[in-house]
Amino acid sequence: MQIFTADQLLTLDHCLSHQGILVDSGKILAVGSLEALQAQAPDAPVTHFADALLMPGLVNSHNHSFQSLLKGFCDDRDFFTWRDEALYKYAQILTREDIYTGALFAFGEMLKCGITTVCDFFYINDQANDNARAVIQAALDLGIRVVMARTLYDWDGAPIRFRETLSQAVENTKALHAAFRDHPLVSVLPAPHSLHGASVDLILAGAELAETLDTPFHMHIAEGEYERTMIQEKHGQPPIAFLDTLGVLNRRLVGIHCVWLDDREIELMAQRGTGLSYNPSSNMFLGDGITRIKEMHDAGICISLGTDGGCSNNRASIIEEMRMTSLLQKVKFCNSTVTRAEDMVLMGTSQGGRNLGLPIGQLAPGFHADFTVVDLNDLSMQPRQNVVKNLVYASQPSAIRAVYVAGEKVFETGQLMRVPEVEIVRRVQTLTQSWT
Ligand SMILES: [Zn+2]
Repeated sequence: MQIFTADQLLTLDHCLSHQGILVDSGKILAVGSLEALQAQAPDAPVTHFADALLMPGLVNSHNHSFQSLLKGFCDDRDFFTWRDEALYKYAQILTREDIYTGALFAFGEMLKCGITTVCDFFYINDQANDNARAVIQAALDLGIRVVMARTLYDWDGAPIRFRETLSQAVENTKALHAAFRDHPLVSVLPAPHSLHGASVDLILAGAELAETLDTPFHMHIAEGEYERTMIQEKHGQPPIAFLDTLGVLNRRLVGIHCVWLDDREIELMAQRGTGLSYNPSSNMFLGDGITRIKEMHDAGICISLGTDGGCSNNRASIIEEMRMTSLLQKVKFCNSTVTRAEDMVLMGTSQGGRNLGLPIGQLAPGFHADFTVVDLNDLSMQPRQNVVKNLVYASQPSAIRAVYVAGEKVFETGQLMRVPEVEIVRRVQTLTQSWT
C-alpha cells in the first residue's frame, strides 16, 4: 500500500486542502487526511507532493493514434482533400511497426499533458487484430491506460484495410475483447465507424455486441453538415432520430462529435442517456461547425472530451480541449457566463470515465489510482487565487509535474519513465522522412 498527499486535491470540481489517497494494487482504497490514511495503513510509505495539486488523470475519450504521424501533411485543406490526401493515402502504406510508432508518439505526448487514459478509435484492422494489438502494446510500453474502440467498418468507398464483413468485424471484436477481458490497463469496446462508414446491419451488430460484452459503444455522428443532409436524404430523418428508429440510441452509445443536431435530437439523446465525446479543436481545425454544448449540457447529456486524431487538432491535450470547449461557447453566445471551468474539469475527467465505462476520472475509493500532479509553482499557475480556473484557462503543459497510472509513475519532470522521448522522436523522423 502507498499514500500520496498534496497541498491541494481535486475532488470532482473543487479542491480540498491537505488531503491524499491510499493506494493498493493500482486502486484507490481511501481518500482523506494523512492522519486518517495512516490510521488505516500505518506502514504504508508516504509520498508528499509539495506545492502541488493532486488531480484525477485526464481522460481522452476520442483519438486515432496513427494520425499523429500525419501532422502537417494536409493542414488547412477542405475535409475531403484532407481525408483523401492525408488519411486515406497514408493509412494504406503504414506497416504494423509504423502503427506502433504512431501510437507511441500520440500516447507519449498525451502523458506529457497529464492524460492517463486514451480511447483509441482504431480502424486499420486488415480484417484481423494484430494492428490493434500493436496500438495496445505501445500503450503498455509507455504505461498509459488504453481503451481500444475497435472499429466496425464496411463502406466500400474506404481503403480495403478498413473494411470487414459483418461476421469478420463481430468475431474479431469479440476475440480482442476476450483476450483483454481481465487486463488491468486495457479494455475493448465495439465502434461502428459512423452512419456513412458502417451499414445499418453493422451498426445494429455493434449495438448488440456492446450489450453482450457489457461495454459502451462509440460512433462518429453528424460531424459535418454534409453527413446530416446525406442521412436525411437517404433515411428521411436526421442522424440521431434515425439511430433512435433503429433502436440503438441508448445509454451504451457515445456519439463522437454530434455537431449538427436539432432540438429534438438533443432531447432524444438526453432521454435515452446517450453520451457525447466532444472534440472542439478537431471540429475547429476541420471547419466542421460548433457543437451545441450549452444546450446539451443543460439537457443533462454526459459530455466527455477528446483530442481526436493528431492531424486534425494538432495537439494532444485534454486541458486544451477544456479551454477550447469553454471559449468556443462564450464566443458563440457572445456571453462569457455560459460556461464554467468547473464543468470543463468534469468533462475532462469523471465524465470521460462514464463514457468509457471505467472507474476512472475521480479520486474516490474503488477508482483506479490514475492521477496527475500539477505544479502550483509553475509560472502558468500563478497567482493561486483559483486553482480550478487556472487549470482550465491558464495552465501550460510545463505545469504537469508527474503522472501515475494504476499507482505507477509513468512521467515525471519532463521525462517519460519507460520509453525515452528521443527514441520516439527518432522513430517518427525516420519513418516520415521516408515519405517525403
Ligand atoms: Zn474520430
